[in-house]
Amino acid sequence: MLISIVEFFRNLPAKTCAGCGKEIEEQHECYVDLCHQCMGMTERD
Ligand SMILES: [Zn+2]
Repeated sequence: MLISIVEFFRNLPAKTCAGCGKEIEEQHECYVDLCHQCMGMTERD
């Protein structure tokens, strides 16, 4: 039984921030593992 790529992504669990564990809502930034808040904090270094 084949599962379409759409079904695959629909069944993925909510993405969470690698820094604080908060759910990331910005799906278009799928290449980022940090929320905006943590990204701002890491950019200081
Ligand atoms: Zn975060």
